[in-house]
Amino acid sequence: MTRELVLVHLYPREMNIYGDTGNVLVLRKRLQWRGLPVRVEAVSVGDRLPDDADILLGGGGQDAAQGEIGADFVSRGEQLRALADDGVVMLAICGSFQMLGHEFVTHDGVRIAGVGVLDVVTRGQEQRLIGNNHVDTPDWGRLVGYENHSGLTTLGAAAVPLGRSQHGRGNNGTDGTEGAVRDNVFGTYLHGPVLAKSPRFADELLRRAYARRGDAVELEPLDDTLPEQAARVAVGRPR
Ligand code: GLN
Repeated sequence: MTRELVLVHLYPREMNIYGDTGNVLVLRKRLQWRGLPVRVEAVSVGDRLPDDADILLGGGGQDAAQGEIGADFVSRGEQLRALADDGVVMLAICGSFQMLGHEFVTHDGVRIAGVGVLDVVTRGQEQRLIGNNHVDTPDWGRLVGYENHSGLTTLGAAAVPLGRSQHGRGNNGTDGTEGAVRDNVFGTYLHGPVLAKSPRFADELLRRAYARRGDAVELEPLDDTLPEQAARVAVGRPR
């Protein structure tokens, strides 16, 4: 029997808008359906981050929530950078994506420092980018979600976009990019939760986590009729 996969849910109370906690549930369920052991650990302000974390998940949050957890998040910077360098899988949505970057300056000028795991910076603006969005990736199919953010994110040289966004959406509404990737770290603006409508991507995260540990786990195919149907419906509704 393979060792349990450890999913760490960062700041479940403060950073969970538009259903992002669902990403944790989707990964847990996809493991349970296959009879693979899994443990979920919640990490809030002041909690220790487990040493055996395989996948870290962080959701979106209001600017105020990002301010609240900001100091705690930044205090974990060294550890988070080391985990990223070590190939730990991370999925950070919207506010958490912004905080994995270098900094987020809100539209009213408040600077929230990030941890520099991803080479991105974010600047808030008055107007928000709101609506369904989908991103076609070369390797993991279509990712489908919903975005609502005032922060516009620009990628630096060390960050590769997750994919191409729909017009007027994505990282900044202008350069056509959505999200950012480095090693096994993924940031995206797709809420919804994205993994519930992007099953191939969900399995890619699990596969990478096992591969990093050197576990030869075969992920049996699941019946993804429902998530695929949900993805089609969302793509048909621009807002
Ligand atoms: N507060 C950030 C913004 O509006 C993130 C919002 C979110 O996570 N949906 O840019």
